[in-house]
Amino acid sequence: MLKIGCHLSSSKGFRHMGKEALKLHANTFQFFTRNPRGSKAKQWDPADVAGLLELMEQNGFAKLVAHAPYTLNPCSADPSVRDFAHTVMADDLENMELLPYQFYNFHPGSHVGQGVEAGIQWIVSLLNKILRPDQTTQFLLETMSGKGSEVGRSFEELKAILDGVHLPEKMGVCLDTCHVYSAGYDIVNDLDGVLEQFDQIIGLSYLKAIHLNDSLTPFHSNKDRHAKIGEGSIGLEATIRLINHPKLRHLPFLLETPNELPGYAQEIQLLQDAYQG
Ligand code: FE
Ligand code: FE
Ligand code: ZN
Repeated sequence: MLKIGCHLSSSKGFRHMGKEALKLHANTFQFFTRNPRGSKAKQWDPADVAGLLELMEQNGFAKLVAHAPYTLNPCSADPSVRDFAHTVMADDLENMELLPYQFYNFHPGSHVGQGVEAGIQWIVSLLNKILRPDQTTQFLLETMSGKGSEVGRSFEELKAILDGVHLPEKMGVCLDTCHVYSAGYDIVNDLDGVLEQFDQIIGLSYLKAIHLNDSLTPFHSNKDRHAKIGEGSIGLEATIRLINHPKLRHLPFLLETPNELPGYAQEIQLLQDAYQG
C-alpha cells in the first residue's frame, strides 16, 4: 500500500479530517495548524485530537503532516516578523504534542535582500530557541522553488540549516516535487541523480515526506505553480516512477494539487493503482 493523502481543511476539526481521509481512501493527510493567512492561535481540542488518534490507529494511518502558515517568515530582516514566526511555531509545537510523533512542515522563509547566509542564520537561531529534547514532533524543512529570495532552493541551503541546529534528530526534509523541479532538479529525466545528490549533500535518512504535485511551469522556472497529477511539466510517467522508486516508495506522499475532494479521490486511486505493491 502506498502511503498517500492530500491536504485537507481543518475547519471542522481533527476527527472530521480523519473521516474525510477515509472516504478518499487516503491513509495520511496534511492540514494547516491554523488559518494559513491569519495567525489567531486556537488551542486544539484534546478530545477531538484523541478521536483522530484512535481513528488513525484503527485504520493503520501513516504519519500526518501539519503545515505551518506559509505567511511566516522566520528569516525576515524585521525583528517583529521573526518574533511573530517564533511565537506561532512555538505555539504550534505545543499543540502538536497533543498529536504526538507526527511531522510539522514549514517554509524556511525569504531573506529579502539580506543574503542567503544571513537568512540561514536567522532560521537556525529560531529553531534553536524552539526545539526541545523532549518533543516527539519532527520539524520538516520544505524544499522551495527559489522564487524571489526564498531560502531552501538548494540541497546545500537546507544542509546549512540542518548543520546549525542543535537537535538535528528533531529535524527532517519534505521534498516538494513541483518545487524541486522548478528549482532545477531534474526529477523527470534523472531522478536517480537527484536522489544521489540529496543523499550526498543532506543524507536520505533526513527525507521524511513528499509533497506530490505536478508543475504548471517549465523545468528550472523558479516558479511555484502547482498542477494536477499528470497535467503539468513533470507528467504522469515521471510521477509514477517517483512513487515506486526504491528510495522513496516507503515515504508518505501528500497531494497539494489544485483539487476539490472528488479530484483528490481520483488522484489517490490513480496513484494507488500505479503503485507496485
Ligand atoms: Fe508548503
Ligand atoms: Fe509543498
Ligand atoms: Zn508550492
